[in-house]
Amino acid sequence: MTDATTSAAEREPSQLFIDGRWAEAFGRDRIRVEDPATEQIIGEVPDATKEDVDAAVAAARRAFGVWSGTSIPERKAVLQRFASSIADRREALAHLVTREMGTPIGLSRIVQADLPVSVIQGFAKHMDQLDEVEHVGNSTVVQEPAGVVGAITPWNYPIHQAVGKVGAALAAGCTVVLKPSEVTPLSAFLLAEAAREAGLPDGALNVITGSGGAGQLMAEHPDVDVISFTGSTSVGRRVLAASAGNMKRSSLELGGKSANVVLPDADLATAVHRGVEHVLENSGQTCTAWTRMLVPVHLRDDVVDLIREAFEAVVLGDPLDESTTMGPLATARQREIVQGYVETGQQEGAIVAAGSTDPWDAIGHYVRPVGFVNVHQGMRIAREEIFGPVLSVLTYSDESEALAMANDSVYGLSGAVWSSDRDRAYRFARKMRTGQVSVNGGSFNPEAPFGGYKQSGIGRELGRHGLQDFLELKAIQL
Ligand code: NAD
Repeated sequence: MTDATTSAAEREPSQLFIDGRWAEAFGRDRIRVEDPATEQIIGEVPDATKEDVDAAVAAARRAFGVWSGTSIPERKAVLQRFASSIADRREALAHLVTREMGTPIGLSRIVQADLPVSVIQGFAKHMDQLDEVEHVGNSTVVQEPAGVVGAITPWNYPIHQAVGKVGAALAAGCTVVLKPSEVTPLSAFLLAEAAREAGLPDGALNVITGSGGAGQLMAEHPDVDVISFTGSTSVGRRVLAASAGNMKRSSLELGGKSANVVLPDADLATAVHRGVEHVLENSGQTCTAWTRMLVPVHLRDDVVDLIREAFEAVVLGDPLDESTTMGPLATARQREIVQGYVETGQQEGAIVAAGSTDPWDAIGHYVRPVGFVNVHQGMRIAREEIFGPVLSVLTYSDESEALAMANDSVYGLSGAVWSSDRDRAYRFARKMRTGQVSVNGGSFNPEAPFGGYKQSGIGRELGRHGLQDFLELKAIQL
């Protein structure tokens, strides 16, 4: 079936979304999509080949003339309809993402449907500014769409991550080839269906599925102008190198090992409970997770009691059950990685003070939360991204030591600081070398720039700043 009205659910396992329709993939290899809670196979998608990548890029290139030449009010109306068609699919998207990667259904509704709707509406709001010109001496400076975008996304928040790239690129007037993670490819087809329903011209958004090889082909492709990547720092490094061939503009959203600094005068119970919640959200598979809790040495035992209390409230189980607060890890491989780090931590001398290392002996890629004490900065569990429900508690003796420890990381994505004196916390936040900081639990803001310092990435996503990666500046001298 290749009819333009066929839904994503009716798509054949051999099809990709290219040029506004379901297109038979050239390659014969398939990727099976597993539900990590039941270990059942829930779908199949093509592993795109070079011919598939070429076809998708060619469709995006053809559509670029049409879409970049469409007036801003018309483009804005399409973006607003795109947001509405995602909202109409709220339950379907949440359900599919939960089945693909195990996020509890309530969190899926918020992050995979409600948040993407606000993110696209946020981009639409800033589109009027795209027509503004700046006068600098005898120059008129204008902003123009950067071209064809290759968007490569991970599996942990699949629709949110795709929309941060696709929404911004389309708002800027670019066209896109999206390659979602091989772990969560089905939900990306539902996003394509929503875009088509919104009236996006054929070829303005193409979705190809595949393993890392397909992503590599996109990063190397001579007719892709911008590569926008979210994933691990190690793959990000390869993407950056591959992009150098035709000097693609590259934006990278990478890993993290964020510090949650509890200052001595903080409301301890709130700081620790909220800190634990942040680490365990999405089973710890969150790039911004505050996985290093830095606490004053004299408060360590109180902190451990509070962590135990917070862990006891966790409801681990079926992510489709509304009462579940923590589902499985996304893949068997991810569970192996997390269990490996828990073993490494113990070998390095850290002590499990909360949670449990007992294996899960039923179906599903579950692990139980683990809270380590006796952790020091040199340990791998304190330096490397684990991407699982593992919290390390480190102690400090004064504020300057806390700051030095917070900043002693190759990453700089996120972080938090708690104090009953908000100005003190703000001053501390200003000294943290990281792209985002939450003060006393200040909540995530989808309009604020999101991205990392150091090896956490290059560039910013979301809101007004999120459009910049997809725009070129032109100075016309008059
Ligand atoms: P990953 O790096 O393994 O894969 C990410 C994407 O890159 C996937 O689509 C994959 O198929 C593709 N890929 C793999 N090899 C490639 C190659 N050589 N060239 C091009 N593409 C390639 O990451 P993951 O395991 O899917 O996701 C987890 C990682 O993502 C974590 O490190 C996490 O911190 C990071 N992440 C970062 C952010 C952020 O905004 N900073 C957000 C979410 C996740």
